[in-house]
Amino acid sequence: MTRRLAADGAGIAQAADILRNGGLVAFGTETVYGLGADATDAHAVARIFAAKERPSFNPLISHFPDADRAFVHAHADGRARRLAQRFWPGPLTMVLPRTAECAVCDLAGAGLPSIAVRVPAGDVARALLAAAGVPVAAPSANPSGGVSPSRAEHVLDGLEGRIDAVLDSGPCAVGVESTIVDLTGPVPVLLRPGGVTIEALREVCPDIALPHGGSDARPVAPGRLSSHYAPTLPVRLGAVSVAPDEALLAFGPELPGSPLTWNLSPGEKLEEAAARLFAGLRFLDMEGRRRGLRAIAVQPVPAHGLGAAIGDRLSRAACPRT
Ligand code: AMP
Ligand code: MG
Repeated sequence: MTRRLAADGAGIAQAADILRNGGLVAFGTETVYGLGADATDAHAVARIFAAKERPSFNPLISHFPDADRAFVHAHADGRARRLAQRFWPGPLTMVLPRTAECAVCDLAGAGLPSIAVRVPAGDVARALLAAAGVPVAAPSANPSGGVSPSRAEHVLDGLEGRIDAVLDSGPCAVGVESTIVDLTGPVPVLLRPGGVTIEALREVCPDIALPHGGSDARPVAPGRLSSHYAPTLPVRLGAVSVAPDEALLAFGPELPGSPLTWNLSPGEKLEEAAARLFAGLRFLDMEGRRRGLRAIAVQPVPAHGLGAAIGDRLSRAACPRT
């Protein structure tokens, strides 16, 4: 059952409670309705991908009630502070290096060393984010491949029964997604055009670059980002047996014979496997190298539901590296 909560004090408090307890709440921002979950909780974030039936784990934007709280988790240089000053709250997302204190889980960041942060406009959204007290990951609140929702009814059309609640703050004002700027390098790069125009950005960052130098700026496909986390050890998919010098990424009953195993989900639960995937790859890679193992063998994961996204991420991890 999906609860429809009014955008008053009681509704906002209930929605914040659901978020803090690992649940999913759709809420209106000035751009579109986002499907929110506690970004520090990998299980909650796995539920976002499950509800949307997303076939791959793309990085999600973490939302905050103000710049101060965003900059606890994301490292802000002078440019980022100036952009925040000018455009927040509003439809601008900044990709920044993670801070040492960054609590956003690997699944929400798709394993990247950077995170995307935004302070949305809208009193209801900001009140919810302040009450939740945690970074809130929120892609658009629609099934994967569908149209972004700009009203609570649109959210329910696509996700009724799959999410805990929708906080109804009426129709969204902007209706297009946020502009995304990557500030991890020396030159700011526009990753996606959106609610804040390039002309307005140039007033603050005159040197901003379009990805292909033209006006047809297209978002960088996150799965292709070279900084995307990939283990150093070779990854062998579809393992039906494992050698004594291989680490094992297991799913369900473990294959015998490996000196080092991380089980994604002994009970074969795909949501649990998604939540444990990035931590598992990191652990087996680090500990496997330390022990002189030569590869990571991966047991098959079913391809239905969240298994498709898990499989997508694993095949990227198994790609030959340059
Ligand atoms: P949205 O669909 O509005 O939730 O925006 C998510 C998009 O933000 C992703 O598909 C990426 O294009 C972009 N994004 C989020 N995090 C990062 C990151 N760390 N590095 C680069 N792009 C990111
Ligand atoms: Mg979308």
